[in-house]
Amino acid sequence: MSMDPSRLARFPFLDEAKEYAADSGILLGELLLRPSFEDARNRGRSRILGALEQGDVGERAMSTDFDILMEVMSYPMARMMVSAIGDTFLVKRYALAEGVTLDRRLRDEKEGIALQVARELGVDAVEVGGELRMHFADFLRFTSKMRSREWKLVNTEVHSGKVMLTRTRFARVLQQALQDRIESELPLPMSSEMSAAVEPYLTDLKARLDEKRKRYSMQGMGEVKADRFPPCMKRLLAMTQAGENLPHSGRFAITSFLHTIGLDSEEILKLFSTSPDFDASKSRYQIQHITGEVSGTEYTPPECSTMRSYGLCHDPDRTCERVKHPLSYYRRRMGRGGYQNASIK
Ligand code: SF4
Repeated sequence: MSMDPSRLARFPFLDEAKEYAADSGILLGELLLRPSFEDARNRGRSRILGALEQGDVGERAMSTDFDILMEVMSYPMARMMVSAIGDTFLVKRYALAEGVTLDRRLRDEKEGIALQVARELGVDAVEVGGELRMHFADFLRFTSKMRSREWKLVNTEVHSGKVMLTRTRFARVLQQALQDRIESELPLPMSSEMSAAVEPYLTDLKARLDEKRKRYSMQGMGEVKADRFPPCMKRLLAMTQAGENLPHSGRFAITSFLHTIGLDSEEILKLFSTSPDFDASKSRYQIQHITGEVSGTEYTPPECSTMRSYGLCHDPDRTCERVKHPLSYYRRRMGRGGYQNASIK
């Protein structure tokens, strides 16, 4: 049963989409150079811009078969452009955005193609009486980075080695699977001809990438010294800056930490604004709640034992051995300039 091409355009990483593209008879050289395929190249670039700006590759209206074909082709184009730039941050950002887009599109789908997507991403899953079940090993593989409790295997229902998942949660795991796959595949090897052909499309992408990178790099942090953060907070901050979704406990920990060491709500908001599901008013409210502007209660970050129980303690170092609280870590590091040297026995 072959799929409607307009659906393929929504899932362009599927083998069937590749076959559809191959059947159209367009050769790579033509795709890269022929003026009539400019549309696929521009849309390829807009996928990447969307990834940088919104954390989602975006949608566009498709009214003709040609539009659909160009949309399918924009996926390999985007991959080549990301590869030509060859920047790790961009690869991560782009992979995340393709994943987030997949998640969103799977949620919109009426008759699910989730199982087909799962199969192609190497996820062992079945549908039993309308319920989706995923092999527990795959579930573990793709949820290991998800910190919130709902993703712990003990909090799921497992039947004969398969984890039962709602459509929403199933889609979220597939987001991770696609993201991991793209991250592992890119950058693609590029011939000099390929690189030369995509070069004209890269100028503004590179400029935007530089802008983004600047924005992510501790802007507005004033006197705050991120290199003195404890490893747990460094990691939470890096995840925020890379646009990864944090579990609530992680968001709480980093927000209250940043607040306690002296950032105001707007500065914290700026750091959070890179998240793919960023919602300014919601985030502002959450931040102001934690900083006490809304609730009247000023929260402080959790101590190490609590961080540990939430799975948020990460890669503790030698200073960690001496502290019970991430704030004490920071204070020790901020304290006397030569503290670190002085403490080495
Ligand atoms: S020991 Fe404490 S300060 Fe160190 S990484 Fe773990 S939670 Fe953070």
